[in-house]
Amino acid sequence: MRAGAGLLMLMLVAGACSPTGLAPSPAGSGPGSPADTLPVRSGDPSAAPTAAERSAEPAGPTLPVSQPPTPTPPATAAPPPTPAPTPGGAITLPILYQHQVAPFPATWPAMTAAQRKTFLETDTLPWALEAQLDWLAARGYTTILPGDLAAWFDAGTPLPPRPVMLTFDDGFPDWVTTVLPLLRARGMTAEFYVTIDAVKDGRLPWDRVRELAAAGMGIGGHDVHHIQLASVGSATAPVSAATMAYEVSEARRLIAEQLGAPPDSMAFVGGGWNSTLVAAVRAAGYTSARALTRGVTQAPKDRWTLRVSRIGIFDDVFDENACVTAPSVITCAIRSPLATFEARVTGTDPG
Ligand SMILES: [Zn+2]
Repeated sequence: MRAGAGLLMLMLVAGACSPTGLAPSPAGSGPGSPADTLPVRSGDPSAAPTAAERSAEPAGPTLPVSQPPTPTPPATAAPPPTPAPTPGGAITLPILYQHQVAPFPATWPAMTAAQRKTFLETDTLPWALEAQLDWLAARGYTTILPGDLAAWFDAGTPLPPRPVMLTFDDGFPDWVTTVLPLLRARGMTAEFYVTIDAVKDGRLPWDRVRELAAAGMGIGGHDVHHIQLASVGSATAPVSAATMAYEVSEARRLIAEQLGAPPDSMAFVGGGWNSTLVAAVRAAGYTSARALTRGVTQAPKDRWTLRVSRIGIFDDVFDENACVTAPSVITCAIRSPLATFEARVTGTDPG
């Protein structure tokens, strides 16, 4: 679907994609964020590695010289020190947050209420994603990856005029079969935050992850066991600092082992975080982390808790009931222009 195409009706035979396991629930955890429903599992706690924390202090102001009793400087004066890089400041950067991209499954009529709820909370319809990508392209947005944002924070490395970051969480086969072709056709990239358990259970095997990486996509960490490591206002049991360190560092180690390079970013499961978890993420070697706090302004002080806009399954869908009541052959209409998506991207309503 192309942007500006008006109301477009699509007939689509549903494919099979049963959401299981790695889905967030709507209960609050972090600020303005949904929580995950998976039970907490304990991993093999390992000692947190000791990595130096970054420090990028700008140089202080230069004071004027009041009296100039200035002798001629010797010709052998030491060269001035290399000026420190000027860190980039806060920037408007919408980070879009999604999970799987699939039509309603053919098994929808037989799905339990819980299964349906999970699907509705984690899915984006393929033709909606296509329209969203076209919307971004038509308005001059350029996709960037977390490493680009870190380079802006650390050294002021320029970003494109209208940067946007696309992120997908957990691990689904449609990342390769559906999302990747849509991105490649438009010269776009996205960050895929992979949970190791999703690799191990076969939803997204390592060769598929490598296929995404080889296509220029970013691969980020999202726990080994998809544990909500820190939560606020949730019934989830507390997680030890050792488990936090294990989940974030072991996920990074395993991805590095398979891809040949460690991931530079991670996403907090459920969006919850605290200072202990942020310290573990920094010690593990990540240079950024994504929370689920809503917003489109990214500041250097928030590089470990980047803000997001959430994309919902019924954003800009003309008639939700048309999707839900006849899911085997779906007639879903997408409104044009994409008013809701525009609100997500511009931050007037980040979801
Ligand atoms: Zn997740």
